[in-house]
Amino acid sequence: PTKLRVSEAFLDAQVGEKVRIQGWVRSFRPQKQNLFLHVNDGSSLKSLQVIAPAAMNDPLLGFGCAVEVRGILKKSPHSKQPVELEAEQIWVIGECNPVDFPFKIKERHSLEYIRQFLHLRCRTNAFSSLLRIRSEATAAVHSYFKNNGFLLVHTPTITSNDCEGAGELFQVEPPGTTFANEGSFFSVPVYLTVSGQLHLEVMSGAFPRVYTFGPTFRAENSQSRRHLAEFFMVEAEISFTESIEDLTKVWKNGENYVHADLGSSSPQWGCDLMTEHEKFLVKHCGNIPVFVTDYPHDLKPFYARDNQDHPKHTAAAVDLLVPGVGELSGGSLREERLDLLRSRLGEYLDLRRFGSVPHGGFGLGFERYLQCILGVDNIKDVIPFPRFSHSCLL
Ligand code: ATP
Ligand code: MG
Ligand code: MG
Ligand code: MG
Repeated sequence: PTKLRVSEAFLDAQVGEKVRIQGWVRSFRPQKQNLFLHVNDGSSLKSLQVIAPAAMNDPLLGFGCAVEVRGILKKSPHSKQPVELEAEQIWVIGECNPVDFPFKIKERHSLEYIRQFLHLRCRTNAFSSLLRIRSEATAAVHSYFKNNGFLLVHTPTITSNDCEGAGELFQVEPPGTTFANEGSFFSVPVYLTVSGQLHLEVMSGAFPRVYTFGPTFRAENSQSRRHLAEFFMVEAEISFTESIEDLTKVWKNGENYVHADLGSSSPQWGCDLMTEHEKFLVKHCGNIPVFVTDYPHDLKPFYARDNQDHPKHTAAAVDLLVPGVGELSGGSLREERLDLLRSRLGEYLDLRRFGSVPHGGFGLGFERYLQCILGVDNIKDVIPFPRFSHSCLL
């Protein structure tokens, strides 16, 4: 018989045919005459009802087990579901003792509660829906950049560059290495990447539009609802930029700008925005996404371009703040002028010696984006395997 996905069964086209399906039992009701099962195979949120004569009951059959069912697909007499499978044979492929299953799948649980069971939360409707959206959003990111002439660059995960020198690095060495530099695997200290920016900047010296979309690692100490130790970042770099709008127009609805010079209102000029400030700003602007530009130069990393003609010493940097989450993305025009960078960092300088052009880029946290569009409070609930301090389950 044809192997059918449950989503295909609901299309009706195979009614009357002999088919086989494979999936997991979502509910099991043995009755006097018949057994009723709902089988879900992940192809759809819906489960297919299977009816079998009571004689087919098997002590191994029950909630949670994996099965293959062969039978005839029939139009269902009930209005609740269009089709059902009249079983001729049922095999238990993988056993499950329902008593050991840690939660009732049909009951509502908080995302926080099912997060304890990373190996089983993908069986819940809530988390499986979220995973589907995450997968679609990933494809949408790639198609956006492809349609707009960007080249995908696979930036490295292991890097000797510590980017901004932030104290959030994970150092990498084979087990047993003493962290003295000689004798270490790469002969220099290396880290898990905190940003692909430098490598994108290298590529932007030959390709005016590049992007990357991969895992990023930061040893965040916080128990915050918007920081992970491993998250996915969408990063882009654009050459021959003329202004910060060349970056912000990558996002739609780019009309809402607030300059970081906010006069007397909180926060004070010269202090970085705290989460509360970000939330305040978004609320103040009517709960819509907001771009904040022209930060005090000293608050931004050395590579952010100096706005020399601005009365206050500012940097051509921008953050995108969104309701519920705060900072979703940060970007800047990069300082392309060798003389202004000279006082700053060694490695960076060589990037400015061979045809340096004005350029800029941004990084956008993919999990924060998902939090924002799905209204999920905690970032740990929009990634399949969250990593944060004191937790690396599975
Ligand atoms: P924050 O101020 O929230 O700590 P950041 O300014 O340190 O963020 P950037 O270096 O600008 O972060 O990184 C670009 C984007 O990556 C951020 O705007 C945010 O969306 C996301 N991001 C940064 N750190 C994390 C993290 N630890 N977990 C998840 N996403 C993050
Ligand atoms: Mg940070
Ligand atoms: Mg920030
Ligand atoms: Mg930032």
